[in-house]
Amino acid sequence: MLRNDQLAQWDRENFFHPSTHLAQHARGETQTRVIKSASGSYIEDREGRKMLDAFAGLYCVNVGYGRQEIAEAIGDQAKELAYYHSYVGHGTEASITLSKMILDRAPANMSKVYFGLSGSDANETNIKLIWYYNNILGRPEKKRIISRWRGYHGSGLVTGSLTGLKLFHKKFDLPVEQVIHTQAPYYFRRDDLNQSEEEFVAHCVAELEALIEREGADTIAAFIGEPVLGTGGIVPPPAGYWPAIQAVLKKHDILLVADEVVTGFGRLGSMFGADHYGLEADIITIAKGLTSAYAPLSGSIISEKLWKVLEQGTDENGPIGHGWTYSAHPIGAAAGVANLKLLDDLKLIQNASSVGAYLNTSMKEALGDHANVGDIRGEGMLCAVEFVEDRQDRKFFEASQKIGAQLSATLLSQDSVIARAMPQGDILGFAPPFCLGREEADIIVASTARAVKTVL
Ligand code: PLP
Repeated sequence: MLRNDQLAQWDRENFFHPSTHLAQHARGETQTRVIKSASGSYIEDREGRKMLDAFAGLYCVNVGYGRQEIAEAIGDQAKELAYYHSYVGHGTEASITLSKMILDRAPANMSKVYFGLSGSDANETNIKLIWYYNNILGRPEKKRIISRWRGYHGSGLVTGSLTGLKLFHKKFDLPVEQVIHTQAPYYFRRDDLNQSEEEFVAHCVAELEALIEREGADTIAAFIGEPVLGTGGIVPPPAGYWPAIQAVLKKHDILLVADEVVTGFGRLGSMFGADHYGLEADIITIAKGLTSAYAPLSGSIISEKLWKVLEQGTDENGPIGHGWTYSAHPIGAAAGVANLKLLDDLKLIQNASSVGAYLNTSMKEALGDHANVGDIRGEGMLCAVEFVEDRQDRKFFEASQKIGAQLSATLLSQDSVIARAMPQGDILGFAPPFCLGREEADIIVASTARAVKTVL
């Protein structure tokens, strides 16, 4: 077996890590962490250190680690047929079955699923299909896409632009001109502290209306949003936000893309965020929870309304010029089928709902009164704790203090619990696997309280 120091050296010399401070890593200022195995809610590194993964990887290993049923489905598929493409009507039993399983679970207005590899490429597909749709309908000017500050939709050219976090734009010449941003429904960070939730929702809606008015509804094709903002800080919307936004979009004939890469397949305790908030989306983006990350696979679930126009488009223009070599990859599809069965058989979405509620309540009980805790929020198996320097007048810490990063590092070093320091603000994010038990939720809460005591 290779020595750890050898691996660390090869890593620094050869491996370009995503979302990493490259210079610090090359200088050895950030550690190489080699994860070796995992089971349930725990991962283990090469030194045998076990860590409770309260972020399920990147909120994706929803059914938990080490599921033999999925590993076997992947192995069986690889042995029987590792690959065949899905162009021009080709498919496999796994990919066709998975498309039916997804549609059986999706909201009633949905009609077809297009498979990709990642959340980013699925959202790129969505924007292309939306542009195609408006071209077929004879309105080539209707192309701009509204997204929200703090939204996360990927790191491609268009999707990096849709993402409303400046870090993902800086020095990349993004956003592209077709993308415009509006306010996120982040009540805790509202400008006017005197605003009630209701008034804040009205303010978000008025801002959207003003944006549409300014740009012209005939230039705006779609609005994209995560039912609950994820990477931007784990922010459930205030009551009434989604129905009010959806009404504005309908009025102006603007499509709604629900980016459910995080929320799809149970993270909120409902099958989809669209069910959870009563949304009628035109496209739903899925990825992470589709296979619980056992294999890369994503999808764009397309409504009947869009599908009809896409069909018409191909009658007029020939086959749709969009496809990836690995669309509907059989191994990913086999993982997806086994994963969705497991979600049903073990009632894992129900567990996400009940243990998630327990985690959120326990976190509030343990930290709700702390002088440096500004907000504790969550939905289903998602929870966030936002830290402030002064709770009374909601004064934030200086970014240079890196309080969120310090807290997550302390949590890991003291109690081997992994939480995510969210990229903007001092926010600890928790998104454990759905199989989390109450005792594990207790460990997460007690360890967080201990880390807070140490750092603050
Ligand atoms: N959309 C949302 C809501 C996400 O959270 C992510 C990733 O975290 C993406 C899209 C991009 O997915 P991927 O990283 O698989 O490209």
